[in-house]
Amino acid sequence: MKTLIRKEKKEFVEELKKTITATKPRKYLVEDLSKDFHCQEGVIDKISFGKKNGSTVTTNQDKEFHILDADFMDIYKKIRRSAQIISLKDIGMIIAYTGINKTSNVVDAGAGSGALAIFLAHICKKVSTYEIREDFYKVAKANKEKLKMENLVVKHKDIMEGIDEKNVDMISLDLPAPWKAVNVAEKALKVGGYLVNYSPSISQTVDLVNCLQKKDNFVHLNTTEIIKRDWEVKDRKIRPITTQNVHTGFLSYFRKIS
Ligand code: SAH
Repeated sequence: MKTLIRKEKKEFVEELKKTITATKPRKYLVEDLSKDFHCQEGVIDKISFGKKNGSTVTTNQDKEFHILDADFMDIYKKIRRSAQIISLKDIGMIIAYTGINKTSNVVDAGAGSGALAIFLAHICKKVSTYEIREDFYKVAKANKEKLKMENLVVKHKDIMEGIDEKNVDMISLDLPAPWKAVNVAEKALKVGGYLVNYSPSISQTVDLVNCLQKKDNFVHLNTTEIIKRDWEVKDRKIRPITTQNVHTGFLSYFRKIS
């Protein structure tokens, strides 16, 4: 796959006495390199896809793009979405907090679009993700194939019925009723392993924390909400973007201690 990037260009127009956007920024993912690529700026001949990483390619309307080899993030951002996917800031924190890495064996539920599971598979040894709905399972599986994540297993299964994997390093839950998965998670986790929960609502979070606090073999490490603010940096207009989603969800971390 290839990524096409067109950089934004500004021009000062003397008659208007102001700077205008001459070229709008654009980014496209080319998935099928055997066909010409059609976009708003015209058509790019498939022959151009053989060009070196970073080269310039031109459409039939004389519009220029830089062509790059598509990387993980280029493709990840284009996955199909079924249920609401977990945001990058929350994924980043799960990875940083638990320290999971290329030796880790991870279980995830529910798969939804498979966004979190795919990201975890990008850095871990093995990930198994459970999805109860057949339509969402199919989306997650198609997304896994698009990213070629061979170490990710997508299962069409209710996680409450049991986790097949044993001695798991980390279990991530993004479920409407996560407390119902505590008993199965307890069995699958290794001693010292982490249970991480993502819930959009604090009432789900509290019910899970209360459920796990009753268990002698789990400690509650932290419940957190990551607030991220994006900024607009354009000439002298430098300020937080006015329309942005502040709240995504709450993350809770638990560790199995015996
Ligand atoms: N974290 C996912 C989104 C999960 S949305 C992502 O980043 O893409 C929650 C998902 O949990 C939904 O797809 C829902 O169908 C699934 N789900 C709900 N109950 C479940 C259960 N008992 N077992 C497996 N999946 C379940």
